[in-house]
Amino acid sequence: MTRVGLYPGSFDPIHNGHTDIIGRAVKLVDKLVLGVAVDTGKSMMFSLEERVAIVEEAIAPFRVSTEIVVLPYKGLTTLFAREIGAGIMVRGLRAVSDFEFEFSITAMNQQLDRDIETVFLMADPRHLAIASKLVKEIALLGGDVTKFVSPSVKDRLSAKANRS
Ligand code: ADP
Repeated sequence: MTRVGLYPGSFDPIHNGHTDIIGRAVKLVDKLVLGVAVDTGKSMMFSLEERVAIVEEAIAPFRVSTEIVVLPYKGLTTLFAREIGAGIMVRGLRAVSDFEFEFSITAMNQQLDRDIETVFLMADPRHLAIASKLVKEIALLGGDVTKFVSPSVKDRLSAKANRS
């Protein structure tokens, strides 16, 4: 039986905290689907097409060992998980604030679909503070984001910052 995992997120943009979770999640499943949320309620810096393209670039090194697919999705994450045959949902946990949010989402998801198990991976201490929102803010204010994102994402952030 193929174990399919879903790692959903807005990935606006993908950063080192996300890629660390991906690198660890591929060890747990046979196939990992990265679900790039179309509508998250948050205001996005990157378009859906850009976010998908950036995620594709970032996962290239992990493709060697495990099948990884990047798919945009909208609507309920549990419905998307079922659609793609994922029995495992992967989430990253940074802090207590993440825990409270994730705890309520997971509790609701359990009510929606009992066959999908959420697996939490604790953020690597080196990446605990990284959040897309902060990375965007730093980039827009002209700060150096080298430590938080890949060189390609850094360039894309600089291009957005120069345009604004
Ligand atoms: P962000 O919170 O950075 O905007 P997303 O909404 O795309 O990111 O989050 C997708 C998933 O990645 C969530 O489970 C989130 O908790 C996790 N995640 C985000 N940042 C990190 C990090 N620095 N380390 C580990 N997991 C993270």
